Amino acid sequence: MTRYPETDGAVDELEPPHELTALDRCDSCGAQAYIRVVVSSGELLFCAHHGRKHQEKLSEIAHSWHDESSRLVAESRP
Ligand SMILES: [Zn+2]
Repeated sequence: MTRYPETDGAVDELEPPHELTALDRCDSCGAQAYIRVVVSSGELLFCAHHGRKHQEKLSEIAHSWHDESSRLVAESRP
């Protein structure tokens, strides 16, 4: 039973958190995402609206909660 090692295991490391950008989209509606939730199965992205909508439920299983919706308020100011 010999398995050829394809990696040294480094890819199993968690990726470093990145700032949310305009390319990150809400999983529910496709709007720009401002909230990133890490759960055991992966990563979820939500706009400010859906982030708050799912917050109560997801906060029970979330490993981390990254909320940049305050940036949305700042950007929408005239
Ligand atoms: Zn949304």
